[in-house]
Amino acid sequence: MYDLEDLYQEVVMDHNRRPRNFKKLENAQRSADGFNPLCGDQISLYLNVDDEGVIEDIGFEGAGCAISKATASMMTEAIKGKNVEHAAEVFEAFRHMLTREPEEEYDYDLLGDLEILQGVSQFPTRIKCATLSWHTLTSALDGKEAKGQSISTE
Ligand code: ZN
Repeated sequence: MYDLEDLYQEVVMDHNRRPRNFKKLENAQRSADGFNPLCGDQISLYLNVDDEGVIEDIGFEGAGCAISKATASMMTEAIKGKNVEHAAEVFEAFRHMLTREPEEEYDYDLLGDLEILQGVSQFPTRIKCATLSWHTLTSALDGKEAKGQSISTE
């Protein structure tokens, strides 16, 4: 058995050192900015979604704490190549994992690597750091073709 605490540290550090899909998509169809005033995390998210609703490409830029950056990086990996309904389900499962009662189950099949972040649920102020990228994603998807939407998680 691995030590979840060690694995958490390792994965979060790795995603901070080498964030995945850390790039601006120059021809992004959709984008949104997110800001978490409690911590100062900010993110700009870029998306291309094809006619079938598949997230063909995704990229993000931004600055913030280790949790916000690692979550954004892991989110892009989890939903790239998937359709938008799937992305929404993963977000729902992720949010549930972080806000559930300790005895409640969560959908680890859907979450994949994101399950590593379950320890964040013990730190309520950090939940906003971990969900910032997801709220920004929702904003970008809801915006249809509109660009440059801004959200705040407060
Ligand atoms: Zn933060």
